[in-house]
Amino acid sequence: MSTIPHIRFYDGREAPCLGLGVWQVTDDEAVDVVGQALEMGYRSIDTAAIYDNEGGVGRAIAHSGLPREDLFITTKVWNTDHGHDAARTAFMSSLEKLGLDHVDLYLIHWPVPKTDLYIPTWEALIQLRDEGLAKSIGVCNFNRDHLEHLLDATGVMPVLNQIELHPLFQQPALRSFHAENGILTQAWSPLGQGRLLEHPLLLALAAKHARSAAQIILRWHLQLGNMVIPKSVTRARQAENMAVFDFELGEDDMQAIATLHTADGRLGPDPQRFRLPHH
Ligand code: NDP
Repeated sequence: MSTIPHIRFYDGREAPCLGLGVWQVTDDEAVDVVGQALEMGYRSIDTAAIYDNEGGVGRAIAHSGLPREDLFITTKVWNTDHGHDAARTAFMSSLEKLGLDHVDLYLIHWPVPKTDLYIPTWEALIQLRDEGLAKSIGVCNFNRDHLEHLLDATGVMPVLNQIELHPLFQQPALRSFHAENGILTQAWSPLGQGRLLEHPLLLALAAKHARSAAQIILRWHLQLGNMVIPKSVTRARQAENMAVFDFELGEDDMQAIATLHTADGRLGPDPQRFRLPHH
């Protein structure tokens, strides 16, 4: 029943190009929020140990009755669990909370270059992949030099890099580097945390296509080849956000949105400096 197209990783596996993000959804809320999303056709869920809702996500999965192979579940190792053994222990704890025997994608949440442990963490993820416990492995918030370091040290590239990306902060250089290296780009805060939805240009494009501003932004991402994980706890918005596969933006629309990029358009932390807080 799911109508969300899939995209293929370099490792041969595939995932829905659009999933539900659940940052800032409480563990209690997650059961209903994820449950209703699965009912309407979402199949990919993006959680993380630090979101403290893996238990609720796991209960929603169990209640859904959906076959495990139809689902694509992502979680992430937090900054305080870097290092080979700590990352492995963190993974096992996530798996237990989710009530699963494997995840589809396990990600390093931030590189935390100051502690310089992301190589041993990555080696732990490679081992988890080889054991079949994480079907694919990737990273979030890695800059180009972090990715090059991973490749030099281990020879294994992530299937994707999940980075802050929305019309105000379009990451052109990193997207090109990903494309040259077979890494998919997954956009976090794809809607700019909801702050872009009143932008006049996006509202004009919404009127032109008889869609919402959120749908215009998500369509822009998808036409660039980005995977997206918009978050909403609201049923109508969840439905709206996945109804983006039956219209197309023209090249002129894509160019117009490209002009919104600003070098300092970040809403979240800078990966080179970010160390501890919440996501
Ligand atoms: P989003 O860009 O997805 O925006 C979410 C906000 O937009 C919420 O306030 C939501 O409200 C609102 N919203 C969603 N859809 C609509 C709509 N159609 N119309 C109007 N408002 C809407 O921000 P996030 O920061 O949550 O990013 C998405 C996901 O990315 C996260 O949930 C998380 O999974 C991941 N992420 C990963 C990070 C990382 O470091 N790897 C960092 C940050 C996020 P409401 O829920 O009230 O409906």
